Amino acid sequence: MGTRADYVTRPREWIASLLAREPRFLSAAEIHQRLKRGGARVSLSTVYRTLDRLRAKGDVSARSDAEGEATYMLCEPERHHHHAICGGCGRVEDVDCAAMEQFAESLRKLHGFELDGHAMEFFGRCRACR
Ligand SMILES: [Zn+2]
Ligand SMILES: [Zn+2]
Ligand SMILES: [Zn+2]
Repeated sequence: MGTRADYVTRPREWIASLLAREPRFLSAAEIHQRLKRGGARVSLSTVYRTLDRLRAKGDVSARSDAEGEATYMLCEPERHHHHAICGGCGRVEDVDCAAMEQFAESLRKLHGFELDGHAMEFFGRCRACR
């Protein structure tokens, strides 16, 4: 006997709490599978729609994986940081960005280039996979 609000809220809560436990990027299909395995009754299109909403709200970060598929992770895009992504297990560490100030300074000096912004990802191995 769900109210209409349940349809909106529940998938969002399920997805948010799943993502909160997973420090790695997951595709919508992977998220859908895990929710189903956990007993949640939710369609793949609802998962896509919910992820879009979470991303629009700024709660979720999205990136394309090596095959070009969209993947999602809980993140704070508002807080400037970078992702170090493990090639073994996919674990993502948030990395802050202090070193960029030096780099921006040398861009300005060497190339006369004034940096307005940047985007970077780091690839390697996490502690467990080294
Ligand atoms: Zn992040
Ligand atoms: Zn790893
Ligand atoms: Zn940065």
